[in-house]
Amino acid sequence: MGVYVHIPFCAKKCYYCDFHSIVVGDRAKFEKVANNYLLSVRQEALLYRSQLGDHRLSSLFFGGGTPSIMPVQELADLITFLLGELPFVSTPEITIEANPHSLTKESVAILKKAGVNRFSLGAQAFQDSLLKSLGRLHRAGDVTSSVRLLREQGITNISLDLMYGLPGQTVTDWQESLEQAVSLGPKHLSCYSLILEEGTPFATWEARGLLELSSEDLQAEMYEQARMLLQKAGYEHYEISNFAKSGYESRHNLLYWQNKPFLALGSGATGYLNNQRYTNVPNVLEYMGRLGRKELPIDHLEQVPLEQAMEETMMVGMRLLCGVDEGEFAERFGLSFFQVFTEEIQDLLNRGLVDYVDGSLRVTERGLFLENQVSGAFLR
Ligand code: SF4
Repeated sequence: MGVYVHIPFCAKKCYYCDFHSIVVGDRAKFEKVANNYLLSVRQEALLYRSQLGDHRLSSLFFGGGTPSIMPVQELADLITFLLGELPFVSTPEITIEANPHSLTKESVAILKKAGVNRFSLGAQAFQDSLLKSLGRLHRAGDVTSSVRLLREQGITNISLDLMYGLPGQTVTDWQESLEQAVSLGPKHLSCYSLILEEGTPFATWEARGLLELSSEDLQAEMYEQARMLLQKAGYEHYEISNFAKSGYESRHNLLYWQNKPFLALGSGATGYLNNQRYTNVPNVLEYMGRLGRKELPIDHLEQVPLEQAMEETMMVGMRLLCGVDEGEFAERFGLSFFQVFTEEIQDLLNRGLVDYVDGSLRVTERGLFLENQVSGAFLR
């Protein structure tokens, strides 16, 4: 089990992003709100402490938004607090997402001292023109200098996020981004295709004919390009969009792909605990108000019945290249996945989208490119 902490603040909204985050204005006012927010997260953690039972927590992940925008000492204090109050294993994976322009020598040193041992940088592309067209605040040079800075501070577990299928992005641009990323020697790389999200500036511009998206064929070509180049560079392709050097798979994200429970703290965060999925109120002031009254800030709570848990385990598990282990599934649910999803699995096998290898059901090369169909097959 792990803990996710949502930090819903950004310096600027990127044109493609629909994540729950608020744009920060005046820094002095923001710091006051940010500090109160971090105190509310502490309150929330304490309210959950008694519900954790025998669970041991193996990861702590700060996502957003932009966690690196927070007052750094207060963020470090929150980490120390959580490590002290919740039942973490002795060396948990502690990840913080950061925008490449927002790290300094001092901030990295403070976070490292608090226990952060993994940094995930939103690099996205290595062409300044593309970064600008996405509405990103950083430039390619910031990624290089951030990686250098992290190394100098003794942080080696670095992950870079890259995006493909961007408007105006060529195959050559993508090749260059992949090569530049690899040359920085990160332990982990995530490659995401651009998805048009409703309500974003990109969606509005596309609807008005002002934005030309890349074709599905081009996206597939770029995906294959990433697979080839990264595998050649020694990265294992272990999840549809993720690549890692051996032993550096994201421990926290594996919890999601294995449909394991996790505690989520922060406004708008969604967690999965004791067979219930919950989503917190998105409004930051309401979130802090509820915790001020010592109430859980839950907006929506649903019981996850066994049938649904089995479907979801297959859906997210098929994103992993190692697939879903039949024995583990049976141990967890008391039934083989062949018994539960007889027709669905047979159909996928017939279409050559999955294989049953060494006791696991996993996607084939062909299935990788039709992953939505593979995962979707298990949703009844
Ligand atoms: S920095 Fe990240 S969370 Fe914030 S707007 Fe950009 S993509 Fe979204």
